[in-house]
Amino acid sequence: YQGKRGTMDIVVYSGEQAAQPHQWLVVQAELRHALERDELILHYQPKVGVSDGTVRAVEALVRWQHPERGLVPPGDFLPAAEHSGLIVPLTEWVLRRALTDQLGWTAAGKRWVVSVNVSARNLEVPGFPGLVAGLLAEHRTAPHWLMLEVTETALAGDTDTVQRAIAELSALGVGISVDDFGAGYTSLSHLRGMPVAEIKIDRAFVKDVAHDPQSRAIVRSVIELAHGLGSRVTAEGVETAEVYRWLIEAGCDEAQGYLIGRPVPWPQVEPDFSLPVIDYSEGFVR
Ligand code: C2E
Ligand code: MG
Ligand code: MG
Ligand code: MG
Repeated sequence: YQGKRGTMDIVVYSGEQAAQPHQWLVVQAELRHALERDELILHYQPKVGVSDGTVRAVEALVRWQHPERGLVPPGDFLPAAEHSGLIVPLTEWVLRRALTDQLGWTAAGKRWVVSVNVSARNLEVPGFPGLVAGLLAEHRTAPHWLMLEVTETALAGDTDTVQRAIAELSALGVGISVDDFGAGYTSLSHLRGMPVAEIKIDRAFVKDVAHDPQSRAIVRSVIELAHGLGSRVTAEGVETAEVYRWLIEAGCDEAQGYLIGRPVPWPQVEPDFSLPVIDYSEGFVR
C-alpha cells in the first residue's frame, strides 16, 4: 500500500497471512525490485555422507537481504513468487548464482554437487530443461554436478508436463531429488518409472526417530523404498547426535541438518567434523 511519504511500504507476511492475495501484490512488487537490485542471496547447507562424514553436496537456500528488514526467509516470499510467476526469473537467478558459486568452490578443490530447489511452476514451463542445459553449458559444468530438488507435492501436480520435464532433465544427466518425502500426498505410483537419484526424508519424521517407534518405522520404510528404487536416501533436519547415530544404523546414505551445518554463505561452509562415528562392535540397536 502507499506509505506516509508516498513510497511503497514493504509488507512481508508469513504463515496464514501470506495466503491473502492483496498482500501478495505488495510482496510481488517489492520482489521484482529485489531481483533488479540484486537483493537476493544464497546460503548453502552441507549434505554429508554418513559413512565418512564428508560433504557430498551443498543445498542452495535463497534469502532476501532486505535493506530495512534484514534477512527474510524464503517461506515469506516464495508463495508470492510462485503465485505471480516471478518464481521463473527467481529460479533462473538462483541457478546462475549457484553454478557460479560452484565454480568458486571447485577452484578451491571442493568436489561438491550443488542442489537447487525448484518449484512445480518451473517444471510446468516447457523451456525449463533447455534453460538448465544452457546454463550448464554457459558455466562449463558437467550435469552430474547439479541436482534439482523437487518437493513430493510438486510431483503430484500436472503429472504429464512435470513428468516430461523430470525425464528431460534426468536425460541431461542432472540428478533429481524428491524433497520433503512423506510430507505430501503423492501416491507411490508417481515414483514408478521416475528417474530419482535421491529421496530426502522429511524432517517431521527424522526429528522424532530417537524416541518415537512410529517415526522409526516410517523412516526405515522410506530407506528401504529408496534403495529398492535404486535411489540414495538423505535425512533432512538432523539436529542431534542421537538421531545421526540412529540413521547410520538404519542404513541412511546422507544426512543434513543443524547438527552438521547450518545454511551459510559458501566460503563459510564447514561441516562439523566431530560427527559421531558408529562402533559396529556393539552391534546394531534397532
Ligand atoms: P527445504 O528444501 O526442505 O530446505 C530445508 C529447510 O529446513 C531450510 O529452510 C533449512 O534452513 C531448514 N533446516 C535445515 N536443517 C534444519 C534442522 O536441522 N532443523 C530445522 N528446524 N530446520 C532445518 P529455509 O532455508 O527457510 O527454506 C525453506 C524452504 O524454502 C525449503 O525447504 C525450500 O522448499 C524452499 N526454498 C529455499 N530456497 C529455495 C529456492 O531457491 N527455490 C525454491 N523454489 N524453493 C526454495
Ligand atoms: Mg530442499
Ligand atoms: Mg526438504
Ligand atoms: Mg523440508
